[in-house]
Amino acid sequence: MILDIINKKRLGEELSYKEMDYFFNGYLNGEIADYQMSSLLMAICINGMSDEEIFGLTKIFIDSGDVLDFSDIPGIKVDKHSTGGIGDKTTLVIAPIVASLDVPVVKMSGRGLGYTGGTIDKLESIPGFRIDLSDEEIIKQVHDINLVVTGQTADLVPMDKVIYALRDVTGTVSSIPLIASSIMSKKIAGGADKILIDIKVGNGALLQTREDADKLSELMIKIGKVYHREVRTIISDMNVPLGRCIGNSLEVLEAIDVLKGQSDKTNFTDLCIELATEMVSMGKNISSEEANKQVLESLKNGLAYNKFLEMVEKQGGNINKIKVSKTEIGIKSPFTGTIKDINALELGKLSLALGAGKISKDEKIDYTVGIKLEKLVGDHVKKGDLLATLYVSNKKPEYKAEKIFTIK
Ligand code: URA
Repeated sequence: MILDIINKKRLGEELSYKEMDYFFNGYLNGEIADYQMSSLLMAICINGMSDEEIFGLTKIFIDSGDVLDFSDIPGIKVDKHSTGGIGDKTTLVIAPIVASLDVPVVKMSGRGLGYTGGTIDKLESIPGFRIDLSDEEIIKQVHDINLVVTGQTADLVPMDKVIYALRDVTGTVSSIPLIASSIMSKKIAGGADKILIDIKVGNGALLQTREDADKLSELMIKIGKVYHREVRTIISDMNVPLGRCIGNSLEVLEAIDVLKGQSDKTNFTDLCIELATEMVSMGKNISSEEANKQVLESLKNGLAYNKFLEMVEKQGGNINKIKVSKTEIGIKSPFTGTIKDINALELGKLSLALGAGKISKDEKIDYTVGIKLEKLVGDHVKKGDLLATLYVSNKKPEYKAEKIFTIK
């Protein structure tokens, strides 16, 4: 049976629900080996899946664990998910904006993978901040302040945890059907009424082409229809990093600056406003124009920042204790000219080398290290100008400014 299923997919044939259920649950229960699941995943990666297979797989994922029910909480619960990018700290800004506008936000976030940082790692850089709230604590907090950002509870889509870990080390992360099932199963099991997906495209993202992003978008909307959930997608650029900072504490501080209205306008501020606008529009059933006005107002009048502070306090954190390494190294411009490009992937690799992320489960993240871009795309620089500051601790990085910055 195991080999028949692998062979069927290898030949590009459609698997039945029963076959997928047998194979995936067999893997979760430890009856099917890593190498056999890896082989099936690679066959899926190469040959794709039909819509019926994808719907079936999403159901198998959802049914593998708990399904949360927030129907007691009044209002439309809108969740947002990003497919992952370098410097992506949007949740830290948009969740408080949306919650401050009376749309309840229960956001279960993940850890980083490879070069991309996770929201949970970022929040953990706030000393004391708890990301392990129980279901009861989550419900109480959203009742009290309308906002919770926490780690995923252990029983939410356990299938995704084991399959993702295997995909990560078998070159099967970028399969569109597998991404769609992985994300949509978590959002549906997480109790969202409506779902906003930020699909990233570019060298620092899982997907490299607009065509693939469109395919993923279409697929997620279709899965949403099967589960009667409105799904909207935004396709955003991940060739350059988001905002100025990469690294956990630095990113939290940058998010705080945006919430306080103390940040300059960057691709990060623009994306936060775009995503928050869509979430508010979905949560309140209002036009995007009206939602946009409310989002800008919440940032301007400090409501969003206050909501962030309320969440940090409730979850035990103290933003005055956030630490950034005091050892700084400057990356200087090798040429005079205009910055044409900043390579997100190279910066992702550099932040990993500094210790801001981890590749194996056993490594520890250093929250205090990271990169701050002093110049952005379009800026004019002279030879010797400071392009970026590295905040380092015990790992000394190797880098070439020319590989990160394209200056012409
Ligand atoms: N994010 C997820 O949660 N799953 C994927 O498969 C890819 C990105």
